[in-house]
Amino acid sequence: MHCTETADPETAEPSSPPRPPLSLTSGRSSSSAIRDLLRITRSPGILSLAGGLPAPECLPTDRVRSAADRALSISGPCGPTALQYGPTEGIDALRETVAVGTLASPTLGRANQVVITTGSQQGLALVARVLVDPGTPVAVEDPVYLGARQVFAGAGAEIVGIPVDANGLDTDDLELRLRQGLRPSIVTCVPNFSNPSGACLPIARRLHLATLAQQYGFLIVEDDPYHALYFDDPPPPPIAQLAPDRTVTLGSASKVIAPGLRVGWLHAPEWLLQPIVRAKQTLDLHTPALTQLIVTEILNDAAFLEPHLESTRDRYERRARALHAAVSGFIDAAMPSGGMFLWGCAEVDTTATLDQAITGGVAYVPGDVFTVEDLTHRWLRLSFATLNEERLTEAAARLESAFAGIERPRPQVPDPSVGSHRPRVQ
Ligand code: PMP
Repeated sequence: MHCTETADPETAEPSSPPRPPLSLTSGRSSSSAIRDLLRITRSPGILSLAGGLPAPECLPTDRVRSAADRALSISGPCGPTALQYGPTEGIDALRETVAVGTLASPTLGRANQVVITTGSQQGLALVARVLVDPGTPVAVEDPVYLGARQVFAGAGAEIVGIPVDANGLDTDDLELRLRQGLRPSIVTCVPNFSNPSGACLPIARRLHLATLAQQYGFLIVEDDPYHALYFDDPPPPPIAQLAPDRTVTLGSASKVIAPGLRVGWLHAPEWLLQPIVRAKQTLDLHTPALTQLIVTEILNDAAFLEPHLESTRDRYERRARALHAAVSGFIDAAMPSGGMFLWGCAEVDTTATLDQAITGGVAYVPGDVFTVEDLTHRWLRLSFATLNEERLTEAAARLESAFAGIERPRPQVPDPSVGSHRPRVQ
């Protein structure tokens, strides 16, 4: 079965045969609104609060260089390990490191249940490949991490939004929906310092979610790239420790070492492992061995990692406080306890004001972009990770001026001109 949006053979030039049709899956995958927005905001005069990029100062170039040097000197029976094909599950040393837990990631369980992925984004794609058919119900946080929605929508899932409050996924609301007959195959959430809400799921809700998974038979996907970026206390234990047979945990080196390495991992119940490994084989055979070896060395180097993580957390906390204080007069936002994002509510329609803000030299992501069912016209996501305090303060001043130019907010009612209430930011 294929998309119908193809060249009409009747009208095609006789000399050029029709092009092959795009697949249905391709037709379902939309471009990420944020990646589209980032293209606009890369221009020099713009202070961007839109992206989710780690602070450039936190990318450990020298440490990666020395780890790469050492990685290239490791040899196995088939020559240099970093340059040779390797196992689909990943390099054993990294699987063991991740299973045991590191300063940057929690204890997950057994190494043979760990698969190294090409970023945690691939972990989401693998879960979708093995569990989602067109029409499969998948419950996501509302507002949702866009990469998750892209993956599950691309697989044809019927996406259901479960509201998020200051404590993350509202598990009481989920339970109500389950009692009313909702039967998702997957419930996915970002339990720690979520993207975009910044919220951290308390232990009581983790337990509630674990109980609901046992009772109603769904799989929990705990997507956890921000685990180590806490400001005060480490987050509660992973949900996988509460419902081990019903949880896939995704982790990543992106926010604690560097996203360009494209190294993530997943820990899955045994019944899911073989399907996941087979799916990964079809995608990329394995994650690059060179970057796996680099990450293995750095995750095991406590003397480097401890001060590195401490200074990253400290930098992000200072930035979060600076941005929070600078916007507090015109945006209502809770101060997050970790992560990279401030999620707030303004007095204006944030989708309508975006152009004006960009003209005024500042960019953000309007709340509507992350919406599944709840309307979030007045909400916005601000990333505090990338800019320093001075620039964050300037960005906030520009934002305030842009918002002040709008006289009256649009009322919070569905607007038919924006389709499914999810305006694209192009
Ligand atoms: N999950 C969440 C919640 C994220 O915010 C991101 C990155 N923006 C990812 C997964 C993907 O990260 P990576 O593939 O770089 O590990």
